[in-house]
Amino acid sequence: MIWVDREVKEIIKRKKKLEWVDDMKTPSGRVHIGSLRGVVVHDLVFKVLQENKINSKFTYVFDDHDPMDSIPSYLEYKKWEKYAGMQLYKIPSPVKGYKSFAHYYADEYIKVFNSINCHPELIWAAELYNSGKMNGVIKKILDNADKIRVIYNKAFDKKKPKDWYPFNVVCEKCKKIGTTYVYKWDGKEVHYKCEQKMVAWAIGCGHKGHISPYDGNGKLVWRIDWPAKWKVIGVTVEGAGKDHMSSGGSYDVAKIICDKILNTDAPYPIPYEFFNLKGKKMSSSKGLGVSAKEISSIVPPNILRFIIVRTPIKKAIDFDTNEETISKIFDDYDICLNAYYDLNEGKITDDKRGEVQRDFARIAELSQVHKLPSKRFFIPRFRTIVNLLKNNEDVFNYFENQKKSKLNKEELLIIKERIKYASLNLKKTEITLQVVKELTKSQKEFLKILAKNLIKEKTDDREKLQEVIFSTLRQKNYNAKEVFSGFYIALTGKEFGPKAADLIKSIGKSKVIKILQKSK
Ligand SMILES: [Zn+2]
Repeated sequence: MIWVDREVKEIIKRKKKLEWVDDMKTPSGRVHIGSLRGVVVHDLVFKVLQENKINSKFTYVFDDHDPMDSIPSYLEYKKWEKYAGMQLYKIPSPVKGYKSFAHYYADEYIKVFNSINCHPELIWAAELYNSGKMNGVIKKILDNADKIRVIYNKAFDKKKPKDWYPFNVVCEKCKKIGTTYVYKWDGKEVHYKCEQKMVAWAIGCGHKGHISPYDGNGKLVWRIDWPAKWKVIGVTVEGAGKDHMSSGGSYDVAKIICDKILNTDAPYPIPYEFFNLKGKKMSSSKGLGVSAKEISSIVPPNILRFIIVRTPIKKAIDFDTNEETISKIFDDYDICLNAYYDLNEGKITDDKRGEVQRDFARIAELSQVHKLPSKRFFIPRFRTIVNLLKNNEDVFNYFENQKKSKLNKEELLIIKERIKYASLNLKKTEITLQVVKELTKSQKEFLKILAKNLIKEKTDDREKLQEVIFSTLRQKNYNAKEVFSGFYIALTGKEFGPKAADLIKSIGKSKVIKILQKSK
């Protein structure tokens, strides 16, 4: 039995009238391949629930009401800086023709998951709040702020002050949501201040005001927003990456909020491991990794699904784009496809080997984007196609000879598809993958000394910061090009970036010092 069948077997035991499977994402830039694992995991649970005739739904929430908390490295920093702290659905799209920044990146991602046969109903968080549907839970949370402070203080090292409320208002003056601090709730309105130095990634305007917290005037802070949405939407099954699901993590806190404040059951949790690239974890916040769109352009849809279906959720997926890894994935897929037809033809035995074969058949079945042909067909090996193309040989002719009869419609289609992806693989130069780079010895040393010198500099004056950087550079006659690329990799994941002093100011000096000290 494969992982999804095991999970669904457990879920069904609860005998709920409706199982509501949900996944969420903040569309703050290109969505990387790691998040795609989440969509497919949820899609599989939903499809298997449906197979079992369980009344079920599948939704995907785009948290477009979240603030822009970093400028993606592929956008011009100077142009986008002014939007930091504003809600993503109120920021213009980087490309004309889209409703907002959030909608542009969400749309790119929706196209990718639709292409691999995931079709959740979409929910836009801003609409959820603006429509007033969240008003009830907002009141409940604010009325119970004292209890929530106690829950937070138990769960985290950092104590919340007595005047802290788990809510962010949209500042009436500067329209930012990431910068406001709510210090009072009078039962009708929240009183707030738009802080200039509350977060490192946005500067507030200093405005003080009071406003109703309802109808989209603000949002609950993330850890509370998650369970609040579960309750309002009616979610009964929701997974997340293992970082959120670890003991004492976001899920645990959200579950306590469900039990103690919202009087609702937390959804059935499905923790899943990361989708790594070349052995490294990807990180959206640092802009590291490869986008879901890029990967979906180098392997066919059912192969992309297959990679996720076949890997048990507790195991990390290690993906690589080299010819050997890709060819091996196709070979593994073909083995599962053969097992599927063996099962259909009654050729699978009841012993241990048969059990493995059955799992393979199930993996092939769940990896499909279109219905599989009912009759077995000849499968052209991907590895062979790559070699034939390298030698400029006729692929169709070769397989017709190997099959010893004419190729049918399905066989011609699969050969054409595999030729397309084999050619792409041979022309890899088109695909630029950003992978976490290792720092050199002198880069690491420079960053450590720079951190020390930054601590000594008491102001965060732009000119002074620039001077600290250059004096550090002169200290040991470092190769400027080399150490600067290390500086940008550590802070942004890319080898270049805006002026060093501007970057330090935008991230915040103290945060930069911490990152530099930790650079390995
Ligand atoms: Zn403001």
